[in-house]
Amino acid sequence: MNKLDVRKMVVVDLYAGSYNKERIGHELYNLDRNPVDGYFYGYCPPHDGINISVFGANRTDEFVDDILVVYVTKKKDSNNREIIAFCLNARVFRKGQFDDKLCRNVKDKDGEESVATYSIKSNNLEYLKNKYNKFEININEYNNRMFRSQRFYGGKYPELDKKIIAYIESVIENREFLDNDNSDEQEEIQRSEPATQTEIQYSPEKPLNIVDSNQGKIIAKNNRISKSALIEAKYTCVINQSHKTFITTNGTPYMEGHHLIPCTVSNSELFMDKYHKNIDCVENIVCLCPNCHREVHCGEWNSKSQKIRKMFTKQKEKLVKAGLLIDEEELLNLYK
Ligand SMILES: [Zn+2]
Ligand SMILES: [Zn+2]
Repeated sequence: MNKLDVRKMVVVDLYAGSYNKERIGHELYNLDRNPVDGYFYGYCPPHDGINISVFGANRTDEFVDDILVVYVTKKKDSNNREIIAFCLNARVFRKGQFDDKLCRNVKDKDGEESVATYSIKSNNLEYLKNKYNKFEININEYNNRMFRSQRFYGGKYPELDKKIIAYIESVIENREFLDNDNSDEQEEIQRSEPATQTEIQYSPEKPLNIVDSNQGKIIAKNNRISKSALIEAKYTCVINQSHKTFITTNGTPYMEGHHLIPCTVSNSELFMDKYHKNIDCVENIVCLCPNCHREVHCGEWNSKSQKIRKMFTKQKEKLVKAGLLIDEEELLNLYK
């Protein structure tokens, strides 16, 4: 991924207008994937247009590309703002765009229906509302009227820029872990043969296999090892063995493999440096039903952390056996 450039950043304040209380307003669509063509379309209140000259656009340019758009919204109990989403490389238009083929109908204040314009178009959007660690902008630290025009551009508050960029980079790094045992990989695990005894035995000793992917560097994992972990667990969910799924074409219950110490590049390097062990090993893989698995990745913190504690309690002896020394608090930190 290219390094994030603050000179191409705009921070947009959403839902500040009173008209949103009545569930009208163009920006209500900003965080939703458009059902017609799958893009995210953003309206930038109050006038739809963003000053694209700030990003180096010529006077005749209708739009600029590769803009980092950060969406914030007012917190419930104060005037501080919270980052709720971002688009990494959006196209930002000089003027509001109008496309009545897209599903963007809004009612105006008189109840008249019209099509909402947009000035931001992006094929990706990272939604952060349910994230455990939110980023709060304490407006009194900068300028308590900083969102008066409902947006500001990178460069205006250099200290804040740095913090926002660091936060977004940490989210992206964390996303690598979220995507890392996705459904494609789970399907491959179903198809895989189990690992041989020798493979299982030596997997903690194996050197790391770091490869390039379209999301940056990732660890190439051995799906056979995950398959063996499922077999060892007799295809029962580590959270509760009564969790039912369905029978796969192999005739076995569908279960998923999850690396308890998440198999990110940074975690893998950490354990390699510290203990000379590879975390892609049977001892670090738990068997989860798909419901529990998604919760461990996407759930809200209270219930999710309970599940992580439960997995740790059941798995810690095995982790020690593989030479992966970690305590419960350290493990929880890897999920934050
Ligand atoms: Zn997982
Ligand atoms: Zn389960």
